[in-house]
Amino acid sequence: MQPSVAEGCALVTKSVAIVGGGIAGLAAAYEFTKQQQAGADLTFTLFEASNRLGGIVDTVRQDGYVLEGGPDGWVSEKPWARELAIELGLEQDLIYSNDAERVTYILRNGKLLPLPDGMRMMVPTDLHALEGSPLFSDEARHWYRTEPLRAAELKANAPDADESVASFVLRHFGREVLETVGAPLLNGVFGGDVHQLSVQAVMQPFVQMEREFGSLIVALQTRARTGRVAQPIFTSLRGGVAQLTYALAATLPSNALLLNRRVLTLARAGQQWHLHTAHTGDAPPPATGDSQPLRFDAVLLALPVWETRRLLQDLDPALAALLETPGSSALTVAYALPAGQPVPWPKGFGFLALPGGSVRMLAATFADQKFPHRAPAGGHSVRVYYGGSEAEAMRHQDVKTLAYAELERIVGALPKPLHSSVRYWPMALPQYHVGHLQRVAELDRRVAELGGLQLLGNGFRGVGLPDLIRDARVTARAVASASMAP
Ligand SMILES: Cc1cc2nc3c(=O)[nH]c(=O)nc-3n(C[C@H](O)[C@H](O)[C@H](O)COP(=O)(O)OP(=O)(O)OC[C@H]3O[C@@H](n4cnc5c(N)ncnc54)[C@H](O)[C@@H]3O)c2cc1C
Repeated sequence: MQPSVAEGCALVTKSVAIVGGGIAGLAAAYEFTKQQQAGADLTFTLFEASNRLGGIVDTVRQDGYVLEGGPDGWVSEKPWARELAIELGLEQDLIYSNDAERVTYILRNGKLLPLPDGMRMMVPTDLHALEGSPLFSDEARHWYRTEPLRAAELKANAPDADESVASFVLRHFGREVLETVGAPLLNGVFGGDVHQLSVQAVMQPFVQMEREFGSLIVALQTRARTGRVAQPIFTSLRGGVAQLTYALAATLPSNALLLNRRVLTLARAGQQWHLHTAHTGDAPPPATGDSQPLRFDAVLLALPVWETRRLLQDLDPALAALLETPGSSALTVAYALPAGQPVPWPKGFGFLALPGGSVRMLAATFADQKFPHRAPAGGHSVRVYYGGSEAEAMRHQDVKTLAYAELERIVGALPKPLHSSVRYWPMALPQYHVGHLQRVAELDRRVAELGGLQLLGNGFRGVGLPDLIRDARVTARAVASASMAP
């Protein structure tokens, strides 16, 4: 392999540090490995503070049950996670949501009320399906019926500037739809407040639809008539999402992966980056010793956004200030329920609770009804999700018992679980508040000025797995292309 010609005409191999071994860091490392094979003259080292790879992707498999502590799949519409799974040889393990039985419920006043068929978020494709729905009053139905009639006005008034999800939804469908569907949906996915979340960052396709069609209902109906073959809404893997992170890790050279190594500081030194690290586990210290800075030509931070901010604080306080994105904590409790004992919940994928209602949980997923292969024949699995301050409060309590009791109050008596799994993710879901895209553009500009630094992870260009994978791979390719042999 020919070394690339670096600054000053010296022949050097580019060295890259990846900090963080979640899906973003792993996808970047995988791409570097591919680029090395294609001739890029670089080496990389991945630093992971914990004793495992995958970050929030965390599957527990036991006795034929697949319990997810983090993501349970991804939206099929975005191709990048599926493409990666296929590249990794997992095509035969891809599974799809059971859309024939797809129903999502809204928990209101203690009752599970189904969202009508054909809803995409809060937008219906079939107005007839709204008739008779116990979820909506006549007034809400009136908003829905008349939204297509206001298409020209909505298109003419579509703002260029960013706005909150709440003001966008209010303009189209009124307050009841915002409170009954919009707020629980956005809370369930982002742990976020519709009055603060940026519509351009979290509902970009709908913003486009408004600009093109005015009416979101007309837009969806037109696309359904002219669009591609419908695909299942969610994709996952037979053995759980961690199959993807395990398969990624298996492609990486083991000497490039440093587990139990937290990066403490990051500093610019001439054309290089200096990292100080510390051991966080039981393993013996490495030969290099933690007191010596480790030197790299480029650094990819693939961290929770608050940790990225900490590392950049001394280096560029103005840049760090742009990273003051609040994060919502999450706590999940997944239960395996024995075979041969019926469960009282209805068919469907699960339910979302109205924020500020009488229950503490934000949502529950009937996991074995959403995806196949989540429980052995006749068994069931369910996952309860708490967000924000409730997640933080629950983590100090007997959460397995409390969450199960709360679930039983909603759905009825349940069999004793065989086992369960609790995961707490502090400040794991960054809140993309109004102005997020402009902030990220400014961040990118400032980061580019520093040279040799890249910011990955869920603080910037999407929180879902497909976006994170795409972003990490594109970035790693760009870093590697600068070190391609001529
Ligand atoms: C409960 C829950 C459910 C979700 N469900 C879905 C879903 O169904 N579908 C979907 O697409 N997305 C889902 N998401 C979002 C998605 O899972 C996350 O956005 C994504 O996994 C984040 O990946 P990441 O690599 O950016 O960060 P992380 O997974 O947080 O990884 C960051 C890594 O950095 C390490 N680290 C931290 N500090 C340091 C340091 N100083 N030095 C070295 N290492 C460090 C951490 O230990 C961690 O391993 C969900 C998120 C949550 C919390």
